[in-house]
Amino acid sequence: MHAAISLIPVLVLGAALALNFKSEAQRRGLNEGESQATLVAQTGVEPLFPEGNPVSTALTQTQRESLTRLASNKTILRLRLRDLAGHVVWSGDESGMNAAPEHEAIEAASGGPVAKLTHLNADANDEGPTGVQAVEVYRALEAGDPSHRIGVLEIYLPYAPINQEVSAGLHTLYRDLGIGLGALYLTLLVISISMGRGLRQEVKFNAFLAEHDHLTDLPNRTLFHRRAAAALKKARRSQPVVIAIIDLDRFKDVNDTLGHHNGDRLLAELARRLDVNTRPEDTVARLGGDEFGVILTGATDPEEALWRLREVIDREVEVSGLPLSLESSVGYVVAPEDGNNVDDLLQRADVAMYVAKGAHSGVVRYDAEQDDYDAAKLGLIAELRQAIDAGQLVLHYQPKAAIGDGKVEAFEALVRWEHPVRGLVYPDSFIPVAEQTDLIDKLTDWVLATALEDVKTMGRGRAGLAVAVNVSARSLSKPDFADRVQASLERAGVPATRLIVEITETALIADPERAGAALAQLDAAGVRVSIDDFGQGQTSLGYLSNLPVHELKIDKSFVFDMLTNPAHAAIVRSIVDLGHNLQLRVVAEGVESDAVLGGLRKAGCDVAQGYLLARPMPLAKLEAWLADPARRGGRSAKSARRRPVTAKRKVRVG
Ligand code: C2E
Ligand code: MG
Ligand code: MG
Repeated sequence: MHAAISLIPVLVLGAALALNFKSEAQRRGLNEGESQATLVAQTGVEPLFPEGNPVSTALTQTQRESLTRLASNKTILRLRLRDLAGHVVWSGDESGMNAAPEHEAIEAASGGPVAKLTHLNADANDEGPTGVQAVEVYRALEAGDPSHRIGVLEIYLPYAPINQEVSAGLHTLYRDLGIGLGALYLTLLVISISMGRGLRQEVKFNAFLAEHDHLTDLPNRTLFHRRAAAALKKARRSQPVVIAIIDLDRFKDVNDTLGHHNGDRLLAELARRLDVNTRPEDTVARLGGDEFGVILTGATDPEEALWRLREVIDREVEVSGLPLSLESSVGYVVAPEDGNNVDDLLQRADVAMYVAKGAHSGVVRYDAEQDDYDAAKLGLIAELRQAIDAGQLVLHYQPKAAIGDGKVEAFEALVRWEHPVRGLVYPDSFIPVAEQTDLIDKLTDWVLATALEDVKTMGRGRAGLAVAVNVSARSLSKPDFADRVQASLERAGVPATRLIVEITETALIADPERAGAALAQLDAAGVRVSIDDFGQGQTSLGYLSNLPVHELKIDKSFVFDMLTNPAHAAIVRSIVDLGHNLQLRVVAEGVESDAVLGGLRKAGCDVAQGYLLARPMPLAKLEAWLADPARRGGRSAKSARRRPVTAKRKVRVG
């Protein structure tokens, strides 16, 4: 295309120049004819009229003979003399004698010579067959003293010899022109090809950049999305498409400890492995950060394929001389079964990935029942993130008091969101959503810092008062969780003994190993650990006995109706006994009536928490409540078996 386009101007230029040369050559041919005619006139004709008589006066015999001799010259095709009015008065071949005057002759009689390229007998007046190509010249004849015009010479000269001379020059000109234009064309071609190649490469490169990740060279989210959409179009139940999201676990630690440079090297290596371990028709993309996306088409056993990819990631990588191995969480969907819209499928794969991460279960397929992510909730997460920064969260405190003497031992910090539009929002509507992302860490940090600041002034600085903070499974599973708690304590300048960390039983089951390690570190620092909502999960008693736990909180669902539901009453009694046997303090939450409180006391429960004592309240109301003697009304000081709050156990059962 480029070659053809650059040929056009060269050809146009060549044609214009060639035409110009040709007309120039013709002009030179005519000039040549003109000079020959002048030569003939001046040497052969004018000297025949020394007196300057007009040629129209009768010619002498000598004049006629001289003229006939001249006309018989081989270099002259035809010779005629005309008078100043253009009539032929003498003709070498007797032609044109009685014809009408030629206008060229009249023109030449009073002006300069007229020359033109023609053929013999081509003039309208001439007869006979058209002859060879000739230069026809009309030129005024001058003679006498003083010299004046006496007639017009009409002469036909053969064009062939003139042409030969002229076109010899023309041929070299054409050859040079051809060579010059050829060189020009080649130069243009080389320039345009090299520029074209450069441009094409740049366009290709830009297109690549727009759709690939610069660190790993893998397709980016945009291309992944497009390929997923294309794969979905072909997906059938008999030939499903698998879309998976792989998220590295604890990649942040690598970045934090080894630096971003090494984090990048690790990502590049893992990307390479994923790429070589999938088939060319599959797609591996980097979706951002430590997240990869995979599209598998025609996989017979996707679960198995994804486990294999997970193992590939798991294999040791050497980064800066350190052998590293990273686990990952994989969530996946199968289309069309789990949906047929890319956005929905990606979101669902994301949910499955979070489930896999939360439970450390490796590879998990999307299950609608685990999906807490509807659009409203995603919006809520974005809003909550800003709410924390904007100071819209507040803590309300609910007392935990000893059942024996009613003494308040601690306050549980319960978060609320003072939403500018929706008013006070309770944690049940945003904690579960926050728990599905790392936003919960930000929230936990905020609650910890605020609660530790508040506990310093509670009860006018009563040193024995503790604050209890709820911690989600997701936060607990972060390797630096215990460090962050200790850092918070240090920042606030609060002794670790004034902090109780409440962890739900289910959080422990999700990741027993990591939970155990975090709790051990907290315990060593002096922080107390409480197991919240106890009775809901199925903690193995053996496991429980090995955890550095200080307190069991009986789930309120057993407490509410313990007086009417004998099974629940039995559970409450069993938990109290179990706790005591493990040297743990037992707390009942959800105590709403004196009757239940009485039941708990009878069962030997140590601490009560519930609306009967107080509803969760803002810090500002807490002092007044503490100072109000009426709050102790109806509670006897008769002590049940009380255990010191500090008692901690690590007792093996059996
Ligand atoms: P939880 O830790 O089991 O907290 C006790 C919940 O029971 C609180 O609900 C409290 O207001 C409520 N409650 C207390 N006494 C009674 C009673 O006598 N009757 C009844 N019906 N309810 C009572 P709240 O404040 O709505 O919190 C709900 C849950 O949200 C908490 O359960 C806890 O799991 C979670 N949560 C609250 N704050 C935080 C937080 O800062 N971080 C985390 N991760 N979770 C939190
Ligand atoms: Mg709690
Ligand atoms: Mg609870």
